[in-house]
Amino acid sequence: MNSSILLIYTGGTIGMKQDPISGALKPFNFNQILEEVPEIRKFGCNIDTFSFDPPIDSSDVRIEFWIEIAKLIEKNYSNYDGFVVLHGTDTMSYSASALSFMLENLSKPVIFTGSQLPIGMLRTDGKENLISSIEIAAAKDSQGRALVPEVCIYFESQLYRGNRTTKYNAENFRAFRSANFSVLADIGIHIRYNDSLIIRPAENAKFKIHTNLNTSVAILKIFPGISEAFVKSFLSIDNIKCIIIETYGSGNAPTSEWFINALKDAIDRGIILVNVTQCHAGKVDMEAYATGIRLKEIGVISGYDSTTEAALTKLFFLLGQEKDTQVIKMRMAENLRGEITIN
Ligand code: ASP
Repeated sequence: MNSSILLIYTGGTIGMKQDPISGALKPFNFNQILEEVPEIRKFGCNIDTFSFDPPIDSSDVRIEFWIEIAKLIEKNYSNYDGFVVLHGTDTMSYSASALSFMLENLSKPVIFTGSQLPIGMLRTDGKENLISSIEIAAAKDSQGRALVPEVCIYFESQLYRGNRTTKYNAENFRAFRSANFSVLADIGIHIRYNDSLIIRPAENAKFKIHTNLNTSVAILKIFPGISEAFVKSFLSIDNIKCIIIETYGSGNAPTSEWFINALKDAIDRGIILVNVTQCHAGKVDMEAYATGIRLKEIGVISGYDSTTEAALTKLFFLLGQEKDTQVIKMRMAENLRGEITIN
C-alpha cells in the first residue's frame, strides 16, 4: 500500500523569499513551496501539507511551538505513515531534540529538514533535502514497519538522530554535525540505513506525547577570566532549577575556591548543575583531571556526551514531568531517546 506523509511547514529559509525593499529574507506562503517543487507530486505516496500561520524564522521558536508540532503529530498519527517537518536551520537541533523527548514510543518517522538557500533559488539545497526526507519518511520494511521511527534531521545526504545534532556551519550546505554518534543513514545513489543504530519502540508500546515542559534552565559557559561577580549573580537568578555548565575539555573548570564554593552553594539551594563540554566532540569524564574531580565531589552531574541542545531540552522535559530533584538527576544519567552514550 502507498505511504501517506504529512508535510508540516513551520518556516525557515527553505520557504523564504527576498523582500524587494530591504533585501532581507522573509517567510512566504507555503503553497508556493509546492509550486517550486512540482516533483514531489510525482511521489508514489499521498502527501498532505499543513502550514503554520504565520510561518516563523526559527530564531523565534518558543516551546509553545514545539507543543503545537507535538499535538499536530498526535492528532494525525493514525492517518499518516510519516511526518516531514520543514524548519529553519538555526534552531532545528533544539526543536528536533525537544520533540525526541516529547514523542514517546514513536513508531513513525518524524524528519526535520530545511535548507541553507531558499527553495526558489537555482542552486538551492532545499529540493534534495525535501525530496529525500519524504522518501525516508515513507520508507517501510517488508512487514510494513517504518525503517526509521525516530525524530531525525535530514540534511545534505545524511540522516542524523535529531538529538545528536548541532548546527555547525552557517554557510555550508552541510550545516549539521552529529559528532558523537554515527549517521542513521547515508544517502547517495542508494539510501544505506544503519539498522543496528535505529531505535524502535517495544512491541505494543503505545505512542504518547508529553507537552508539559518547564524552561527553568540556564546555560553558563565558562571562559578564562570569568569573574566572581558574574558567576554569583548568574547562579542567583530567580526561579532557575537547573544550570548547564559548559566546561572545558572532558568536563574541567577552574578550581578557584570562590568558583567551587559558588557552585556548591547553588547545589545546596537545590539547583541541579549539569556538566556538558564546550568541545564539539567527545564526552565529559569528571574523573580524568583534578579540575573535573572537584566538580564531581560537590555534586555536579555529568552530561556525558550530550549536545547542549539535547541536555537543555531533556531538562525542560524532565522538569515538566518530575518534582523530585534526585529523580531528575537519576534520569539525566539514563539514555532516554538515544541522546547520550553511557560508558
Ligand atoms: N534564520 C533561518 C531560520 O532558522 C535560517 C535557516 O532556515 O536556514 O529560520
